[in-house]
Amino acid sequence: MNRRPGLPPAPRNEPSRLAALLAFEVLDTPAEQMFDTITALAAQICGTPIALISLIDAERQWFKSRVGLDASETPREIAFCAHAINGDNLFEVDDTLLDPRFCANPLVTGDPDIRFYAGIPLSDGQGHNLGTLCVIDRQPRHLNDEQRHALRLLAEQTMQLFELRLQARLQREQAALHKAMFRSAGNAVLVTDLQGLIQQTSPGVATLLGYNPEQLQGQPLELLLPQNSDQLPDDPQQPQLATLAGEGQVHEVQLRHSNGHSVPVLLTLAPISLEAQAPMGYLCIAHDLSDREEALQRLHKVAAHLPGMVYQFVQRADGSSYFPYVSQAIEQLYGLTPEAVREDARSVFARIYPDDLPAVRESVALSAASLQPWYCEYRVLHPQRGLLWVEGRSTPQRLDNGEIIWHGFINDISERKHMERLKGEFVSTVSHELRTPLTAIAGSLGLINGGALGQVPQAMAEMLSIAEQNSQRLNLLINDLLDMEKLVAGKMLLELQNEALQPLLEQAIQENQPYADRYHVQFKLHGPTTQAVVHVDKLRLAQVLANLLSNAAKFSPRDQVVDVGVQQHEARIRISVTDHGAGVPENFQTRIFSKFSQADATDTRQKGGTGLGLAISKEIIERMGGHIGFESVTGHGATFWIELDTLAQEATPESPSQPENTWNA
Ligand code: ADP
Repeated sequence: MNRRPGLPPAPRNEPSRLAALLAFEVLDTPAEQMFDTITALAAQICGTPIALISLIDAERQWFKSRVGLDASETPREIAFCAHAINGDNLFEVDDTLLDPRFCANPLVTGDPDIRFYAGIPLSDGQGHNLGTLCVIDRQPRHLNDEQRHALRLLAEQTMQLFELRLQARLQREQAALHKAMFRSAGNAVLVTDLQGLIQQTSPGVATLLGYNPEQLQGQPLELLLPQNSDQLPDDPQQPQLATLAGEGQVHEVQLRHSNGHSVPVLLTLAPISLEAQAPMGYLCIAHDLSDREEALQRLHKVAAHLPGMVYQFVQRADGSSYFPYVSQAIEQLYGLTPEAVREDARSVFARIYPDDLPAVRESVALSAASLQPWYCEYRVLHPQRGLLWVEGRSTPQRLDNGEIIWHGFINDISERKHMERLKGEFVSTVSHELRTPLTAIAGSLGLINGGALGQVPQAMAEMLSIAEQNSQRLNLLINDLLDMEKLVAGKMLLELQNEALQPLLEQAIQENQPYADRYHVQFKLHGPTTQAVVHVDKLRLAQVLANLLSNAAKFSPRDQVVDVGVQQHEARIRISVTDHGAGVPENFQTRIFSKFSQADATDTRQKGGTGLGLAISKEIIERMGGHIGFESVTGHGATFWIELDTLAQEATPESPSQPENTWNA
């Protein structure tokens, strides 16, 4: 702009000035009466034939309003106003022909033959002069003070009109947006006056409640509430709406459909007010909850057919807990209602049989810490039904707010427990009754076969020997059954004492080698000699070792070795028994420690055994604080191991340690 003398320099804040001008969105808009009134007044007051509201953009001056001039814009280079916007006061040129900046200006030398110019900048109050309000004459002249003052007031008025124009536009946009939102909202939206009379309804109201807008116009909002409704607080001092309305207040209520039935909704009521003034009315938004209600009903129906209670249990970060959902069956199991535990789960824990409560709490804490599924069997003291056995299982999930939620199921297992007890008692009674005569039979057969009564006739010898073997097997089975029942009933008393492990191992191998000989199998204890001391019932440990060794022997191929090893790891010691047999079939591995389980049903006949040995061993080892397990790859033998805590080591024996001990028959 400053390339030639006489060209006006651009203001220093030109980029932001242009941005401010564009933001008013007035350039290239049609003429408007309010601005034309201002230019008419300016021309009249100043007594000039021409008055303009001129806005200077990057390239041109454009006239929002003009009096006495045909052109709607001129290039910025020759614009007088482009000079005027560089200052904050009136820019006045009394005679252009006497002013070297303008005497050669085409607007001076040609149409419209400007001789006089006076322009006052239009400032947005932020330091941006957007253009001018100017008056022009074809004669030289000079404005008096009153004219200048009037021109300044008119310029201010012009800017206020620009502002108002912009505000009005923004408001129209907002209104259009609100209207679109109001019409398209999935919810039902109502506007009431202060008395609660309905003024406007969104199309969602017809969809949700069946009324068309005309039916509701001017009706009280209460029309939509079910008759004799006590859902909403009733305060005689205040209109009902005022008690309900509030920031973020949400009410779960039933509204009345035009056909009479109830519609569950979430209702929010917000006062409509201008800034801090008293409310003019209320905005009511009703969010349809029918889907949720339907899903809940469906869940209730399904849950009612389940043989136990389904629930969600939540533990808050502060340790307190509640049941956000629980089916009605909680009444059957705990004698409580779903409502009673919705906010606080303490009453549920209070019904758990006191002896079982610590175990339940511990299992919940463990599940919370590990996020592993929860499983627990425990007793509940039902106020009417008495003591019940229940079984609970659920899956935990951590929520974003730090709470943990379990989704699960609890059912009554009292009947099963009762049957198990009866079965246990039956087995135990029968076993006891059988044991005495069987011992006598086995003993007698032993005496006969041992020749105590004289030479057994050849013809009978084989049959008598089979009878003796079978009576011994029966004896073993009965002993196992009795052991199992004792363990389950908690009647097996263990006499735990500190014992050196090495002698126990050596003795077990020695005592079981004769059994292994039947299969032509040899036990091999690998060194070095262990100094470990364990806290065990030595007879019961011997029983477990006998079971592992006899299994290894009977499942080993002929002429094979069974390796027995000891490994110390920190304070634990592992005793392992490895055979080179067929191994444990993969599909049986998860059941191997269950009662009466054998991989192959023919095992009993072929190899003897009851399928109880490992189950008993597991109970015994766990009651001694240890663990039992195995590793096996089908076809490549099996290693069964037990792990025990070791105590302080005993003094090393004098004798040099043997690297390897081998026992033969
Ligand atoms: P049992 O008295 O029948 O041996 P156990 O409980 O000791 O009862 O063993 C259960 C079953 O586990 C056995 O019948 C057999 O199928 C399997 N089993 C145990 N030890 C071994 C082993 N060393 N190799 C392969 N299978 C084994």
